[in-house]
Order: sequence, then structure tokens, then C-alpha cells
Amino acid sequence: MAWQRKTPFGYMVRDGETVPCPAEADAVQDIFTRYLAGATYNEIAERMSRGNTPYHQHTSQWNKHMIKRILENGKYLGTDIYSRIISDDEFLAVQLQKKDRTDFAPCPAGLKPIREKAVCAVCGGGIKRDTKSHGQSRWVCPDCGAIVRISDETVQRLVSQQLRQLADTPDLLMPPPTPEAAPSADALRIQNELNLCFNRQDINPDYMKTLIFAAAAEQYAVLPDLTPVHDMEVLRERLKTGCVNDSDLQELLAKAVKAIRIGGQDYIELELTNGTMIGKEQRV
Ligand SMILES: [Zn+2]
Repeated sequence: MAWQRKTPFGYMVRDGETVPCPAEADAVQDIFTRYLAGATYNEIAERMSRGNTPYHQHTSQWNKHMIKRILENGKYLGTDIYSRIISDDEFLAVQLQKKDRTDFAPCPAGLKPIREKAVCAVCGGGIKRDTKSHGQSRWVCPDCGAIVRISDETVQRLVSQQLRQLADTPDLLMPPPTPEAAPSADALRIQNELNLCFNRQDINPDYMKTLIFAAAAEQYAVLPDLTPVHDMEVLRERLKTGCVNDSDLQELLAKAVKAIRIGGQDYIELELTNGTMIGKEQRV
């Protein structure tokens, strides 16, 4: 085991007195700031390892335990020996977030509508948000086993970026050409029966009438529901008038987006109900 530091990280002893070590105190502040911005212990440790402020003198390597200890060290609030490096507010915010992140990371409200439409970019199966591993959020595809590590913040940021892009180009919401409705098997059978009857002299006219109505009802039943197309038209016209707010984006997500494809740290694509894809390619 490497020898332990005699003084906590952030401090040094000068003339028998414990004083802040400027470079280390800055690093402590940086670690708190990064953690609050959503970085994980490991991410911070990697970053610190690349920097010029070692935890142990003999190696530049940092690990997540060092980061964790620093984030939990109450000496940074100041004591009779150690001067203050971190504010009460910041220290408290970290402790609260730490509890959230390790116990269970609840799904942020803004993520819920996204989660409902999230699919795996590899296989197209439903992908699940999973926070059981170290409270760090990742997405796991139960179908193909793909695992995507991406923070909740990033998911929300990318999706709202793309929704905004969509809102800026409402013509992407054009409905697809309505496919010709294929007649149902029953409709074909009724039509056949009707054709036969037309060629018979002895047929009851009321029976013919019944058949004609039945054929019409069958044809009507297979007509596609045009409500979503109409909804989209209304939305598109409204977006064209400019001025897009958050609730417009939410409505876009609910009505125009069929699936949110998650496939990597910064790879998220929106598949619209009309088949259009919004994603990296369109982002400049
Ligand atoms: Zn998959």
C-alpha cells in the first residue's frame, strides 16, 4: 500500500501550521463543481489523473475512492485547524446529490415522456433506463444487450435540441401520403356475394340492400384514422407562426415523435410518426 498523505488533500503544513495548498484547494473546488454538474467519481478521477495535481506525490493516478473521500470530507467547511475551501451550500448540495445518486436515481420528470418512446438504435427494441449500477444512469436493451452510458441531462439536452430543430423546420412534419386502404377479407367476401346476386333473377331485393350496406360499412371500417394527421397539421401551422415555447416542444414530442433512438453517448435520433429522422446528420 502506498504511503498515505499526512495532511488531507487541499492542505499543506508550513512552519508547523496547516494552511491551504493553493493548487490542491483549487482542485478540491473543481471536484465539487464537476460533481454537481453531473460528472461521476470515475470521470472526475480520470480528469484529475490527466492534470498536474497528484493526490499522492509518487503517482499522477487518481481513483474514484479519492474523489469520494474528498466529496465527503467535512474539513473543507473549515475547522479550528483547517481553513474553509468549500461553502456550506455547495457541500450540502453534494451530500444530497450523492445520496440520490447512490441509493437510486429517480427518473427526472422531463425524462419520463422520453423514456416512453426510447428505443435501441441497434435493434429497434424498447430500451430501458437503468440506474441500479452505482446510481449512474445508463440505458440497457433487453433484446440485444446494448448498453449506452449517457447522463439524464445529456438525453434531455439532445432531445430538446432536436425538438427545437424540428420546431424551426415545421415542414418536416408533413404527413406521409396516405396509403390506399386495402379491403378487408370480409369486404371481399361481401363484394363477391353481391356480384353473384346481381346475376341471379330470383334474389330478394332486401337481401341485396343488406349486402350493399354491409359492403359500404366494411369499406368505411378500414379507412385510416386521420385524426393524427389533422393534429399534426394544426401543430405545423402553429409552429410556422414562430415563437416556440417548452409546451410546444412537449406537444411535438407527444404527437410527432414515434421513437427516440438511443445508440451512444451523443447519438440520439428522433423518428417522427411520418417516417422522417431527426438526428446527427441534420445537426450542424
Ligand atoms: Zn437492442
